[in-house]
Amino acid sequence: MARIVTKDMARNWRTATRLVRGGTRRSDLGETSEAIYMTSGFRYDDAETAEARFKGQAEGFTYSRLANPTASVFEDRMALLEGADTARATASGMAAVAAALLCQVRAGERVVAGRALFGSCRYILEEVLPRFGVTVELVDPTDPAAWERALSQPTRCVFLESPANPTLEVVDLKRVADLAHAVGAVVVVDNVFATPLLQHPLELGCDVVVYSATKHIDGQGRCLGGCILAGQDFHDQHLNQYLRHTGPSMSPFNAWVLAKGLETLELRVTRHCENAAKVADFLAETKAAGRVRYPGRPDHPQYDLVQKQMGGVGGSVVTFELPGGQARAFEVMNRLQLIDISNNLGDAKSLITHPASTTHQRLTPEQKVELGIGAGMVRLSVGLEDAQDIIEDLEQALR
Ligand SMILES: *Cc1c(COP(=O)(O)O)cnc(C)c1O
Repeated sequence: MARIVTKDMARNWRTATRLVRGGTRRSDLGETSEAIYMTSGFRYDDAETAEARFKGQAEGFTYSRLANPTASVFEDRMALLEGADTARATASGMAAVAAALLCQVRAGERVVAGRALFGSCRYILEEVLPRFGVTVELVDPTDPAAWERALSQPTRCVFLESPANPTLEVVDLKRVADLAHAVGAVVVVDNVFATPLLQHPLELGCDVVVYSATKHIDGQGRCLGGCILAGQDFHDQHLNQYLRHTGPSMSPFNAWVLAKGLETLELRVTRHCENAAKVADFLAETKAAGRVRYPGRPDHPQYDLVQKQMGGVGGSVVTFELPGGQARAFEVMNRLQLIDISNNLGDAKSLITHPASTTHQRLTPEQKVELGIGAGMVRLSVGLEDAQDIIEDLEQALR
């Protein structure tokens, strides 16, 4: 099983080439598609080899909780795409978020996070970390003064999501990274909504990037997965031993699905974004849809930052706030014939969800108001169908 594409070889490749060929390994059989190494363990020719591999003195695999050839293809491809020293695959996006935080924080330390977050990320910050003596402060992620205040004292780690789910608020990553580094904090960015193609947190000074690969990286609704990308020091000092001994490892089969997903990521994300921009424009012109939020539209409150940080491309998710609250939101969703009611996103199929009653139902009414998650708000993940068919489905449902 030879690694036929090394990082050095791939460094000069452009993104599309990296996505198709990065990390490729081939067995003696010369297969063109990556093989699936569905094995938990590996055998050794002799006891001395086993000892040397465990000591890290010989190359080679030992046990799939620690490393697996198929997972390594996915990891190497992700590291190249993100421009990171290291990538580690996890069983789900939440396993990646949990590991990226838990591997580094200690009792008595402080974490600062943007308060607009995926529901489960918020659970880890508000419910899990405090149980172990970690102080967590949540700030309005769009308010520069709030970050300045929160990051005026020693902080272990900053966690944020941009664009945020489901409000699509955008955080100034460079500014937050500068403030965080001044007080010694490590910045972890959940980059799911931007995808690895639209926004590059490491280039903006952030330290760790996490993904739910379940979303655009698979992009076809087949399997769960996650990934943590970081510099060599963070990986060696914090992440590696934590992952090794807690075991949130990705299945080789899922790694194969996701590595193949990366091959078409650029094509798919480009089409997702084109479709989402058309759908957002349609909704914005339709009074019955209420207030529309889409980072790619000039009426987004942080459009300038979207230009600077995401190349002006708004991503694949559009939210809108139907006048008439939850009853009207449910009525419109129930009338859809093409778009499915589902809480996943980044899928080839267009999916719609009502955050207040599903992904964000755990929040109190006050927290929902604070975050701008209204009773009539729906989140639409725009898929790869013909944009006109998506628009016509929304049109008939809103009528
Ligand atoms: C889906 C999602 C996650 C969690 O990922 P899973 O693969 O479902 O565990 C984390 N953050 C964001 C922004 C997400 O959209």
